[in-house]
Amino acid sequence: MSPRACSLRHSIAVLALAWAGQCGASPAIEPLPVEEIAPGVHVHTGHQATWPGARGDEVEGDVAGLGFVVGTRCVAVIDTGGSPALGQRLLAAVRRATPQPVCYVINTHVHPDHTLGNAAFAALEPRPRFVGHARLKASLAARAPFYREALARDLGIATGEDDIVYPDFEVEGNAELDLGDRRLLLQAWPTAHTDNDLSVLDQSSATLFAGDLLFIGHLPVIDGRLLGWLEVMDRLARTQAKRVVPGHGGPTADWRAALDRQRRYLEGVRDGIREALAGKRTIADAVESLAHTGIDGWLLTADFHRRNLTAAYAELEWED
Ligand SMILES: [Zn+2]
Repeated sequence: MSPRACSLRHSIAVLALAWAGQCGASPAIEPLPVEEIAPGVHVHTGHQATWPGARGDEVEGDVAGLGFVVGTRCVAVIDTGGSPALGQRLLAAVRRATPQPVCYVINTHVHPDHTLGNAAFAALEPRPRFVGHARLKASLAARAPFYREALARDLGIATGEDDIVYPDFEVEGNAELDLGDRRLLLQAWPTAHTDNDLSVLDQSSATLFAGDLLFIGHLPVIDGRLLGWLEVMDRLARTQAKRVVPGHGGPTADWRAALDRQRRYLEGVRDGIREALAGKRTIADAVESLAHTGIDGWLLTADFHRRNLTAAYAELEWED
């Protein structure tokens, strides 16, 4: 839709009601590759790499699983990618798949590879609702300066404060979104991977968008509470889902096996650290002694395993 058509639309409210399109999308941008894994459920799988990556590499912030679900009335986008430019490419993928307007942009949690593409959708008219866990806003506000600094330093991408888009629809407990003949069930979880994890279940296709409550390939990263995450995984395992879209790695029907594998890693960290604490080891000593334990078959272990051990030590040190 041309800028002229958009301004015309603003001035003729009656026509606007009848207009199926949505202003703000640019036709020149290369759509992000997506796969339709179930009718109306489109998924992009990011690279197995750390965010944001380096300037000029193939990754450029594209490290998380993203998606969108199409109803008869409108579209919900689930996570938006690690930069405003990636958000634009995801929007171009939505535009290629459907003429329906985007009515919801859901963030599964605060991390920059899931939220920094929001800006592309905030420019749409009518503006979608931005949906997140009740604790997302505070967490994003605290971290936004660091995220923007990393984008500038590592990718040479300058952003303004307006590029950080906060939720205006906050979920405590659960919520339901209607896309037209299609309902999404949202669940806000107690502290697990982060303190603001939100999962999305598309009822029509029984597809669960788990966000970073499930990692496949990429080593799980503890940025919330290790013990809380293990409890949440028990509840997550009871979800009636035919397939799961993880926050990292490809969508899978064999998601309970993936959950078990993640559990083994996290329980290994828990048990190793508890033993080190019982033996009165220092944090440095504990991390060093466990630096090569339990990481076989996982990717990015050099980036995250020691950090997980450190986080677990700090958490479990205060256990009874
Ligand atoms: Zn994350």
